[in-house]
Amino acid sequence: MLRKTKDCLAILVVGGAGYIGSHMVKLLRRSGFGTVVLDDLSGGHRDAVRDVPLVVGSIADAGLLAELFARHRFAAVMHFASFIQVGESMSDPGKYYANNLAATLTLLGAMRDAGVMRFIFSSSAAVFGHPDRLPIREDLPKRPINPYGRSKWMVEQVLEDYDRAYGLKAICLRYFNAAGADPDGELGERHHPETHLIPLLLQAASGRREAVSVFGTDYDTPDGTCIRDYVHVADLCDAHLLGLRRLLDGGESARFNLGNGQGFSVKEVIDTVRHVTGRRTPVRYEARRPGDPPRLVADTTLAHGVLGWMPQRAKLETIVADAWAWERKYPWGRAASDGF
Ligand code: UDP
Repeated sequence: MLRKTKDCLAILVVGGAGYIGSHMVKLLRRSGFGTVVLDDLSGGHRDAVRDVPLVVGSIADAGLLAELFARHRFAAVMHFASFIQVGESMSDPGKYYANNLAATLTLLGAMRDAGVMRFIFSSSAAVFGHPDRLPIREDLPKRPINPYGRSKWMVEQVLEDYDRAYGLKAICLRYFNAAGADPDGELGERHHPETHLIPLLLQAASGRREAVSVFGTDYDTPDGTCIRDYVHVADLCDAHLLGLRRLLDGGESARFNLGNGQGFSVKEVIDTVRHVTGRRTPVRYEARRPGDPPRLVADTTLAHGVLGWMPQRAKLETIVADAWAWERKYPWGRAASDGF
């Protein structure tokens, strides 16, 4: 049975049991917002939500959404519930368009019906595809090269139309490489299967994984491996909070790139992991992974200037150290019984 939130400003966090969503829920609570999580637990974890009301269900379920919006007066919706594996999006695009696009339209429809007109959307650097220039500014051409990136860009375009036609205000936040873990050590990354570089390396460092594949050593970069802009999950959440406040203050829709403006190669990340953990992290050099652009580095001038966003945990060592502290807690609580 759904419960009414107290009369403080309530935020619906869709996908709040997942990696970034669960960190956001914690920050919202600490910042005095009432919070309700909607998550189908396909990728999230019940115990990551802790004492916040959790509704287990899908944003594709219009009836459930109508009931939820009727029971709570939400000031805004934050949407973290998307599928994120680029490779899978190539082999099963239907899954990505059904969830990341069609179900998001259902969610937006329910918001409009309920008069909830503020939306924070998790977008991605994948909307840019292979950028012509670095660092990547918000206004560079959007040429996504896989269904995952296309689904994100389509929603961004939908949101532009919905603002123009219906006045629905949205902040789209394009994450570069989200990494790290809650500095208090209470939350962290636990995708299943894990595909991201830093957690995979840390699993190897802790002995949970034999080796990590390095996908491609022949890129046109100084050491031949891909360059990415890693950004701490706690800093991403700070940006969401600033975006939320902007909308609550009557601010206009906007899109922001979120990174640290500094690129690290896969080999540099491996060195940092070895340095931070003091452990062996066996790697295997393999062929390129299809769809990987050689370099993605954000220009975050806009987020700094307009949102006043200032990452607090920008150093790669800090990002890796926080993720390592979380990895060392494995197995994590009740989820261990699920094999995670
Ligand atoms: N990568 C790798 N081995 C892995 C996973 C990732 O070499 O097992 C590389 C990947 O090719 C990319 C970088 O690490 O250049 C970051 O990949 P990740 O999947 O973490 O994030 P993405 O940039 O794809 O969003």
